[in-house]
Amino acid sequence: MTDFPKKARALGLCSGGLDSILSALLLKKQGIAVTWVAFETPFFNADKAKQASALTGIPLIVREITDTYMEMLKNPRMGYGKNMNPCPDCHTLMFNLAGKIADEQGFDFLFSGEVLGQRPMSQNLSALNYVAKNSGYRDKILRPLSAKKLAPTQPELQGLVDREGLLDFSGRSRKSQMALAKEMGIEQYPTPAGGCLLTDEGFGRRLKDLLAHEGQNPATRRDLVLLQHGRHFRINSATKVIAGRNKAENATLAALADPAIDSIVRPAAPGPMVFVPNKGDLDGIQTAAAIFAAYSKAAIGQSLAVTVLTPQGEVVVPLTCPDREDFHNFLL
Ligand code: SF4
Repeated sequence: MTDFPKKARALGLCSGGLDSILSALLLKKQGIAVTWVAFETPFFNADKAKQASALTGIPLIVREITDTYMEMLKNPRMGYGKNMNPCPDCHTLMFNLAGKIADEQGFDFLFSGEVLGQRPMSQNLSALNYVAKNSGYRDKILRPLSAKKLAPTQPELQGLVDREGLLDFSGRSRKSQMALAKEMGIEQYPTPAGGCLLTDEGFGRRLKDLLAHEGQNPATRRDLVLLQHGRHFRINSATKVIAGRNKAENATLAALADPAIDSIVRPAAPGPMVFVPNKGDLDGIQTAAAIFAAYSKAAIGQSLAVTVLTPQGEVVVPLTCPDREDFHNFLL
């Protein structure tokens, strides 16, 4: 192996999966000081990266990036995947942010555990090139597991990394990774990622609706977190109603609701937690009361007076308990 002029420092994107671990250990084996970075938004978190860091002892930087991420998510250059997942532009942004951290903290290059052709859409050659080119750090991005299938990168040409010690993995099979894990003595590792809510169809539908109705008030982090919980009903452009589906969701929604800005149904009978985020209009508030009744233990046709606490005061809505089916078309 070549003698290197100095101990190189590399910063890697970490999903927490086996490929992240193998790529980092491969560099570490060459005497390179590796650190990971993982990003958090309401759509994905760094939990698995933290597990991988605890398992390997590789230091991890965690950054919350919701605001920056939302700017990209509203208009990704390459559009969305099957749902609201903008994978190529998401990776591009992550490498861009990692590159800025590398600049600030003196890392020599960036790396990731991506394997050429492993995911047909996001890890084919043109997607890898798109990400590298548009991240602003094209020459500094190394993919150690597939390096020998790709053109030599700057860290290799500069002698910071020994290309001979890198690999030529490609394709969807995981056999090579499993064999390498065995060789490196890695028996435990976090289960494959898959925790990105943007790839979920229902979540994507609710997110799309939220973005389409932002109006003057951009979606807040809380609005995004709410998309994970409860049934969501779009009533009109100003109003959405959220109703808990079970005890746990009721408790989560109760903790997220804010009487200073939301209209919250006060239960008139045993029933779900129902509220209108960001107040809503009178029509929406009345519909929230009716949705509460429909999903409560009240019988269809029963007379009820449902009170809704709005930021401006109480609104009492007298109603006859409707059928849940009446709201089916409002469901997101
Ligand atoms: S699955 Fe989610 S986190 Fe992963 S690249 Fe796509 S959008 Fe980004």
